[in-house]
Amino acid sequence: MSKPCIFCEIVAGRMDADVIHRDDQVVAFHDIHPQAPTHVLIIPRRHIESMVDIQPDDAFLIGHMHLTAKKLAHELGIADTGYRSIFNCGRDAGQTVWHIHLHLMGGRSMGWPPWPGN
Ligand code: 5GP
Ligand code: ZN
Repeated sequence: MSKPCIFCEIVAGRMDADVIHRDDQVVAFHDIHPQAPTHVLIIPRRHIESMVDIQPDDAFLIGHMHLTAKKLAHELGIADTGYRSIFNCGRDAGQTVWHIHLHLMGGRSMGWPPWPGN
């Protein structure tokens, strides 16, 4: 049997996570290996493997994920200093969990372009 998707397990409440937001579309929780003082993942309740798989019908969901990032940025105190919201899509972008997730990162200045270390 294939391994269950860890992010589906978090949505279902079968796996622990430091959840800070839930609604009918998305769940948001702190990243287990934060790469910035604030590092949150916003994921859809529905399993979608990668951003390369999204369809026109997913437009509302993707917009809602970004609006959730903005809301959480305000709540977490990084809206004024700035933040990055990132989808890693596929191998070359470094995607390691195959359930789409929007990284919300802030609390430090970040370099550009995002070579290793940035
Ligand atoms: P990716 O590299 O796929 O864009 O990002 C996956 C992210 O998920 C990484 O930042 C990683 O630290 C985080 N992550 C992986 N497994 C878990 C987990 O079980 N719990 C939490 N909270 N974060 C996880
Ligand atoms: Zn999943």
